[in-house]
Amino acid sequence: MTPEANARAELLQLIDSKMNRTLKYYLDTCVRCAICKDACHQYVATGDVLYLPAYRAELIRRIYKKYMTGSGRLLPKLFEGRDPEDDVLLDELYKTTYACTSCRRCMFWCPFSIDTSWVLAVAKALLLATGRGSEILTQLADSAIDKGKNIDLYTGVIREVLKGSEEEMRRIVQDPSAGFVYDKQGADVLYVALAGTHTILPAAIVFHQAGEDWTLSSFEGSNYGYFLGDTVKAKAIAQRIVDEAKTLGVKEIVMSECGHAHRVMRDFYRMWAKEELPAPMVSILSKVDGYIKDGRIKVTPGKITEPVTYHDPCQIGRNFGLFEEPRNVVRATCSDFRDMTPNRQKQWCCGGGGGLVAETEFDDVRLKSGRLKADQIKATGAKILVTPCENCRLQIESLNDHYDLGVRVSAVLDLVVEAIEIKPR
Ligand code: SF4
Ligand code: SF4
Repeated sequence: MTPEANARAELLQLIDSKMNRTLKYYLDTCVRCAICKDACHQYVATGDVLYLPAYRAELIRRIYKKYMTGSGRLLPKLFEGRDPEDDVLLDELYKTTYACTSCRRCMFWCPFSIDTSWVLAVAKALLLATGRGSEILTQLADSAIDKGKNIDLYTGVIREVLKGSEEEMRRIVQDPSAGFVYDKQGADVLYVALAGTHTILPAAIVFHQAGEDWTLSSFEGSNYGYFLGDTVKAKAIAQRIVDEAKTLGVKEIVMSECGHAHRVMRDFYRMWAKEELPAPMVSILSKVDGYIKDGRIKVTPGKITEPVTYHDPCQIGRNFGLFEEPRNVVRATCSDFRDMTPNRQKQWCCGGGGGLVAETEFDDVRLKSGRLKADQIKATGAKILVTPCENCRLQIESLNDHYDLGVRVSAVLDLVVEAIEIKPR
């Protein structure tokens, strides 16, 4: 076999290893009805066929049909068969695959529920195998893995930096003994935040007021290995949290306001590691909704009087199923709540998911495709936009400037802290 033929055989073997029954169904079933064209914010905003969901999947489908079906092997031209090492195909595949925000709005619209983002997971594996993975996502994933390997070097520095926030916490909760809790054996809750204090301080205040038995994870929930499409790296990043939960023997793993972190821990870790989580994963949004309902924390009803709207992050709403819990919490804090149209399963993606906010090469499509979300926000007349996802918040901050929306972008827990009635403990 020539080196070229060898390389092709290896790539085909890689694609074949990803082909399970569901994926074959997706590749065999598309009838090219193009209903999905009206679902994808990137296609609707740009009209570029590169962003048509069916076309994105079609690039992988052509390799599959040519090499992995009998009819394709016999009549490759009829099926527009393509080769996996074809440079033009790989260039196009890079642009269309890493631009996809994995919002799965197209799947919701497709009469056959074809999950284009799943097909594109195969495309990412192919791109990585040919040395064409996203550079910035690779760097971010590698740095998270490095942190996991050298956690003792990091924890001292991070905890020192967080001391100022602990001081602020004590002032807000009026308790000189309050603080962030670290490495607590047998805690009920292992809280997994994001990098920086903005997702730690509000949660710490809420946990303190609820009398929760909690401890703070040394690791952040974000997972750039998942965005990159490298399941080995993605698993290694998630594994740090799983090992910590095992070591501490916690009862629940509570995820911060981060969409993809919710799905990684609930849906994907099990698939990658072939093991269950050592404790159930619960969203911080469900916890806080429960605290308010059970009277463990009290918020002043209608404390926030400016009009508030809520953006359903794709990975928390459509793909995880949390629609009412965050709305309950937001509604409890404000007097003028205005839902966007459409919302819940049908909401438009903000355009920043899938790692796009970190990939400057996609800035143009990110901002253009965010126009649909910007129009929705404007139509509500809201002055505060709340959303429980870091990527969505960064993207909507960007849209705020770009489309002059004039909104304050907030996390759900920030509103809770604004409206909470402090009980000295
Ligand atoms: S809606 Fe579904 S079946 Fe129709 S073109 Fe899109 S992916 Fe294919
Ligand atoms: S998952 Fe979202 S961004 Fe990706 S093709 Fe479907 S609608 Fe477009």
